Amino acid sequence: MAHVPVLIVGGGPVGLMASLLLSRLGIRSLLVERHPGTAIHPKARGINARTMEVFRQQGIEAAVRKAGLPPERTGFIVWAKSLAGEEIERRVPWGRSERSTDVSPVRACLCAQDYLEPVLRRCAEEQAPGELSFNTELKGFTQDSAGVTATLRNVVTGAELKVLAQYMIAADGAQSAIRAALGVRMDGKKDVYDSVNILLEADLRPWTQDRPAALYFIESDKLRGTFLTINAHDRWGFLVNSLKAQGYAPQDFTPERSAALVRLAAGVPDLPVKVLGVAPWVASAHVAEQYRHGRIFLAGDAAHEMPPTGGFGMNTGVQDVHNLCWKLALVLQDRAEDSLLQTYHDERQPLACKITEQALANAVSMGRLKKTNETTSARPEFLNEQGMIFGASYSSAAVLPDGSPPPAVANPITDYAPSARPGGRAPHAWLQRPDGERVSPIDLLGKGFVLLAGGKGGEWAEAAQAMQTSNGIEVAPIIVGNGELEPADERWRETYGIDETGAVLVRPDGYVAWRSAGAAVDPTRTLARAMEAIQGRAS
Ligand SMILES: Cc1cc2nc3c(=O)[nH]c(=O)nc-3n(C[C@H](O)[C@H](O)[C@H](O)COP(=O)(O)OP(=O)(O)OC[C@H]3O[C@@H](n4cnc5c(N)ncnc54)[C@H](O)[C@@H]3O)c2cc1C
Repeated sequence: MAHVPVLIVGGGPVGLMASLLLSRLGIRSLLVERHPGTAIHPKARGINARTMEVFRQQGIEAAVRKAGLPPERTGFIVWAKSLAGEEIERRVPWGRSERSTDVSPVRACLCAQDYLEPVLRRCAEEQAPGELSFNTELKGFTQDSAGVTATLRNVVTGAELKVLAQYMIAADGAQSAIRAALGVRMDGKKDVYDSVNILLEADLRPWTQDRPAALYFIESDKLRGTFLTINAHDRWGFLVNSLKAQGYAPQDFTPERSAALVRLAAGVPDLPVKVLGVAPWVASAHVAEQYRHGRIFLAGDAAHEMPPTGGFGMNTGVQDVHNLCWKLALVLQDRAEDSLLQTYHDERQPLACKITEQALANAVSMGRLKKTNETTSARPEFLNEQGMIFGASYSSAAVLPDGSPPPAVANPITDYAPSARPGGRAPHAWLQRPDGERVSPIDLLGKGFVLLAGGKGGEWAEAAQAMQTSNGIEVAPIIVGNGELEPADERWRETYGIDETGAVLVRPDGYVAWRSAGAAVDPTRTLARAMEAIQGRAS
């Protein structure tokens, strides 16, 4: 029987990202995917700025951007009676606006899932040659104190192989057989509306290039659907939702009928259209009641399914494994206790519940769940969710509260108040090197633990260096305000909430674990204690 530290089931964006992250952390894994290759349908397209920050920290931002479209080529959201007909409304989503550069040095990107996945696969394979196995499915599994024993089957030859893994990540999608076998309850609403995705070739530039948008919602008496931008030229998606309300059934979508509907929605009766594929799907809004089941962790759509209104499914899934993988690495390397792994559920599951609720609220406001075919406009929060994207705050044993209250915002969905309060994402603030080069903390984080200390925080830096010996964990100290790296403006002081003698400990996923607003009597002991708590080794 083959042995592997982590078995990843599913080669969608979440499984591929888990493979890449674990390799970067020095952990071997085996990824199995039943299909011969990556996704053939462009399901997800909107990669939000937080996910792009993660991609940047893993060195793959440029490759993803090359496969996708820049924000200025998808700058609007348009509502119209048809592409060639009357425009009803036009909005600039927050992620495409200049304002978005205030909170991150990294911008959102539109990259269709069938363009993104080959990039993730290539990068994961470069890190872990031979450890991604396509045409291979998980047939069954058992788990006990020794690990997860999995039966894998080559779908081409039928050959079976048994693998013993210390942990298994179930990234096997919305219909997760692992979740079903574990008997996990899903909380929320299943099957809230049905849709069909049509992938097509047609040159739509004459009706789109003067108002480049990520989405063109078509709202007419005859049809409600959405053109989904893929290459903004001749490759598009067309989404027909709320089928029953519009008098359709999935089997109605023959290639001929689909092409006719696309022409109707375009408002161009003689438009040449080639239908490349038709994929029916049903939106649900539910979340697994528990993400951890012994040695098995649910991630991505296996853990949460949400309507695509808002574009959160894949983003949430990528961020799930970003949260999980460093914890698995520490436990596998015997540098943290098993209890750290429970914080994956404690941090990610409540957040997924909130995101799912908001994705559903978007869908409701857009009339997706209505039984009638009437025109509706999306609520103001739709694609304006920067509070939810950047303002998420974790509460778990891997975060040490410092007694400060959460930042006050009027609407936690749309409003983001940058703060280095423990539990939140270490915020962006421009720092400057002596030669004038500007650098964001976002570019200093994401590879391991980092201690950001004020200009007189030399003792904290020494404490960070001692951590390798005392706690077995490397912590990179960075002093801000020592001449080598200076705050470029007031933002650093306002958002980090420490004086020149204080320090902030940031986890490998870029979230703040602990903060000391000022000096401590014994910095080495104070920091070691904080780390012990994160490691689950506090006495
Ligand atoms: C129309 C539409 C638009 C969307 N738009 C967005 C968007 O803009 N932004 C966004 O973030 N999300 C969006 N989403 C959601 C996004 O597509 C999903 O959240 C994402 O695909 C989930 O990734 P995953 O890796 O968890 O699962 P999947 O992509 O479903 O991958 C799971 C993989 O596991 C494999 N598998 C399953 N069982 C086994 C087994 N037993 N053995 C081996 N392999 C197995 C499957 O073959 C599959 O490849 C959209 C979805 C739809 C339908």
